Amino acid sequence: MPLVPLRSVLDHAAENNYGVAAFNVNNMEQIQAIMEAAKETDSPVIVQASRGARSYSQDNYLRHLMLAAAELYPEIPVVMHQDHGNSPETCFSAIKYGFTSVMMDGSLMEDAKTPASFDYNVKVTADVVKAAHAKGVSVEGEIGCLGSIDHAPAKDHGPVDAELAGEPGERHSHDADLEQEPEPEGAMSHLTDPDEAERFVAATGVDALAVAIGTSHGAYKFKKKPTGEVLKMSLIEEIHRRLPNTHLVMHGSSSVPEELQDIIRKFGGKMGETYGVPVEEIQRGIKHGVRKINVDTDCRMAMTGAIRKVFAETPDKFDPREYLKPAREAMKKICLARMISFGQAGNASKLMASGRLK
Ligand SMILES: [Zn+2]
Repeated sequence: MPLVPLRSVLDHAAENNYGVAAFNVNNMEQIQAIMEAAKETDSPVIVQASRGARSYSQDNYLRHLMLAAAELYPEIPVVMHQDHGNSPETCFSAIKYGFTSVMMDGSLMEDAKTPASFDYNVKVTADVVKAAHAKGVSVEGEIGCLGSIDHAPAKDHGPVDAELAGEPGERHSHDADLEQEPEPEGAMSHLTDPDEAERFVAATGVDALAVAIGTSHGAYKFKKKPTGEVLKMSLIEEIHRRLPNTHLVMHGSSSVPEELQDIIRKFGGKMGETYGVPVEEIQRGIKHGVRKINVDTDCRMAMTGAIRKVFAETPDKFDPREYLKPAREAMKKICLARMISFGQAGNASKLMASGRLK
């Protein structure tokens, strides 16, 4: 079926108490991994592309890959979502290229670095909502800033966060200190204020709201398994109490599994000790209004580990299919696991039968 808007999928998720993983893509193998996992588990899916991904892949390639997915898997509802649009223009160009959902991240100015005022955020987001809704496209907004962006820039761990930036290799401000554990006091000032969240939703009419609860993008989220001090799941509960009809979005929600870290290290990769967001915390969020969960790092790690393994064990191979196939298989496993844990598995057919997607 044609690509579907985020709103219909999340409304169904809310009614049936499940969450939907939003996986980032920039190439064919990643899209194939997600679609195969969706087919196997009967899951509706959100496939998202950041500005960095759009510039890496080019919009035309991306659009046609997504259309191919919709054509090859007519039984799976697929949302094509712009991740972290930095300006109304970015969102409008995504809509022009067939995205069925856009995120207007007005928590930062257009440079995607400078924290923006509440009024600026309301204005740009409301503008995007107006134009997007007129075309049946859904909108995600953000209130509060992910991570703790006022800390010193991170030491170089490589361009792990290039995904989110406008150009490959450019850093995204949300990730300015992604190696640092968000410190309770420093980070708190950037966390979503429930009062502001309420006013923001009323003023903009967004379909989904990204909230800052202490997660950050990239692999280096926490130095130890996160406690309620650094990962404020209680804030999700409070926001959901106040905005029971708004779909909440968790960014930076890879779990950074130890097994994947071990594979990367075993085959020559370098990764410092790190902890992500435990799946059980995400499941707790899903009980309290979280409907969209952004997962990128786990997929990257799965693919990289698989490729490293082929290179290390069979250094004579040079056909890209020999390592892209296991990489695709490894990403599919992560997608399968998240689809099952978040509860979206089994819901593609139910959503199709619900009549919501007409
Ligand atoms: Zn994000």
